[in-house]
Amino acid sequence: PPLSPLLTATGIAKSFGGIKAVDNAEIEVTKGSITGLIGPNGAGKTTLFNLLSNFIRPDRGTVVFDGEPIQHLQPHQIAQQGMVRTFQVARTLSRLSVMENMLLAAQKQTGENLWQVWLQRKQVAAEEKQSRERAIKLLESVGLARMANEYAGALSGGQRKLLEMARALMTNPKLILLDEPAAGVNPTLINQICDRIDTWNSEGMTFLIIEHNMDVIMSLCDRVWVLAEGKNLAVGTPAEIQSNPQVLEAYLGQ
Ligand code: ATP
Repeated sequence: PPLSPLLTATGIAKSFGGIKAVDNAEIEVTKGSITGLIGPNGAGKTTLFNLLSNFIRPDRGTVVFDGEPIQHLQPHQIAQQGMVRTFQVARTLSRLSVMENMLLAAQKQTGENLWQVWLQRKQVAAEEKQSRERAIKLLESVGLARMANEYAGALSGGQRKLLEMARALMTNPKLILLDEPAAGVNPTLINQICDRIDTWNSEGMTFLIIEHNMDVIMSLCDRVWVLAEGKNLAVGTPAEIQSNPQVLEAYLGQ
């Protein structure tokens, strides 16, 4: 069957003052893929992530996620639609426990009358139990279950990245955007992170990954998009990208 697109962005542009950080860029992520986004420093990769998830509003462009335009939505609404992201420096709350960080991702309820509130209380208790069970499973999958009651602030930078990824999976999203999952992480943990991404992908999760570590990109990705100076430079399989003269030149030039 033809590969159907989960995320399609076209004509995306954003300037900061005189700098065209993202300049008429496009990207597509097919369902079930691990798609890479690479490019030299300052190419606009993180800005493009911010534009896709509406953390920053684009000057222009169209973003379609799972068949629906999403530019008019707030970042939390986009997350509810099933597109979640992590950050270059993991955004975990250090003064909450690892488990509390996971439960942050669970949904809140509101009530209208007391009977509804009572029913919701029971429902919330049941959901809380389910959330904890899901959290424990996910923490086990990233090797952090035994740290569930430690402060998140006690984790290493790499462990916080694993925690942030596990938390992103709490809501069972359709697409996860990972901003440099391997940056500042020791080689053993990098392998663990890659294995996790690979396993989650084989279970059906779709990923878009920014990464400077080419081994990570080459081993994980089905397809790689290359940005340079805010523009699309190339797209192809890891092997095609690795031997593309324009891509090599863009990296040598920096
Ligand atoms: P890196 O690989 O180093 O993380 P990147 O490809 O993610 O780089 P961006 O961080 O998106 O690149 O930056 C693209 C360009 O936009 C850079 O020239 C950067 O200085 C500029 N830029 C990004 N955010 C802002 C901002 N909020 N205000 C001004 N300029 C910005």
